[in-house]
Amino acid sequence: MTTPPACDPCRSCGGTTSVRPFLDLGLSPVANTLVRDAQQSRELPQFPLVVGFCESCALVQLTQTSPDIELFDAEYPYFSSFSDELLRHSKEHVDLLLAEHSLDERSLVVEVASNDGYLLRGFAGTGVRVVGVEPTPEPAAAARAIGIPTVEAFFGVQTAEQLVAEHGNADVVIAKNVMAHVPELNDFVAGLAVLVSDTGTVEIENPGVRYLVDSTEFDTVYHEHFCYFSTIAVQALLLRHGLHLNDVVVFPDLHGGTLRWVGSRTPGLTERAARVLQEEREAGLDSFAYYADFSARVQALATDLRRMLEEARAQGARVAAYGAAAKGVTLLSFCGIGDDMIEFVVDRNPHKIGKFMPGTGIPILPVEALSERHPDVALVLAWNFATEIVAQQAEFRQQGGRFLVPIPAPRYVGGEAHVPAPSSSTRLFSGDSARVHAVIASLVVLGSRSTEVVRWAPHLRAALRG
Ligand SMILES: [Zn+2]
Repeated sequence: MTTPPACDPCRSCGGTTSVRPFLDLGLSPVANTLVRDAQQSRELPQFPLVVGFCESCALVQLTQTSPDIELFDAEYPYFSSFSDELLRHSKEHVDLLLAEHSLDERSLVVEVASNDGYLLRGFAGTGVRVVGVEPTPEPAAAARAIGIPTVEAFFGVQTAEQLVAEHGNADVVIAKNVMAHVPELNDFVAGLAVLVSDTGTVEIENPGVRYLVDSTEFDTVYHEHFCYFSTIAVQALLLRHGLHLNDVVVFPDLHGGTLRWVGSRTPGLTERAARVLQEEREAGLDSFAYYADFSARVQALATDLRRMLEEARAQGARVAAYGAAAKGVTLLSFCGIGDDMIEFVVDRNPHKIGKFMPGTGIPILPVEALSERHPDVALVLAWNFATEIVAQQAEFRQQGGRFLVPIPAPRYVGGEAHVPAPSSSTRLFSGDSARVHAVIASLVVLGSRSTEVVRWAPHLRAALRG
């Protein structure tokens, strides 16, 4: 643990002495720095990751902005359309907007950080005018290729004024999973206020800080992720720019727990929004005490996870990981998990293949490597998509592979047998594999950690595979 450095002024209210640190994750490389050389990935510069709470406006935030952070890199962009779950969620949002706002060909919908058009394409055939704003060239080009007008820019007051001059004010402004990544938070929200029409709404989505704390999602902390929002903090932020919080929709299963905050120039809270605000106050999200024991819980989770991986390795299991996500960099770095424990990471994004997880020297391979190289355990770094991943990887599970989901508490999911397979299969005997399987299951029930089971398990597993 490093000594927490001095805090920057609050990113929302500007308070110079109001931000109080509560979580120090030590030094970590910048999560999106994927390089093609193992040694280079181990030697990347590392920067402090310290999280603080503003006692004036309740915003949770990184206490410092590390230098040399490239927010977006054109070489390995993220494509939202790679996630089935995200596509489903977005389509539902579009259908809701169409139903609730009586949108037609006179209406304008703008999405900030529109990526490859994964959401705006849902308006196709409705006549509604759409414009995307996306700073990363490749996803922006992908969006244009499917007919979605896309402005290649970062969003703030300047971009908002250009959009208004060209297209008029927007009836709906959507900003999903972007506000936490914005270094100039007030310029971003001021831009939303410039862009939205007098009768329009802004729809902001982001994982909620309450889920982060309650579910120990500490790995969602990384250098490109400046802020962690509560409804209380969002309400104050919007109001600073003349926007009122009107509604809150909760998605407990999306990205580890996501909130949609709906705002406009018109005051007034829905009943459910008032309830969310009240629940947050009752839980204490607006006071430091709520965050005070988080660090100890994070430490305990890291200790448990390391122990489970060490036990699996000691029993001869080969371990891989799923998802070269930014959060994985924080998790591996803080838990001290490197290429001595994890053989490789798989990812669906072809732009990441052939590179290495920052800080670790762990290679990134295509998803097919899971069934081709059949490791025994896959640590799910992209745990926010765990349900989707486990469902997609039936072949890996049928081969006896197990998923180790680290958050909110490390646990195994899937797999035919709860016993690690041998690293090199030696076929000792053949037989009725169902019977062998039953024997393994019985042994596991009797005590999977007994030396007897550990000694016999590889042979039984080999028989099963043979
Ligand atoms: Zn503040």
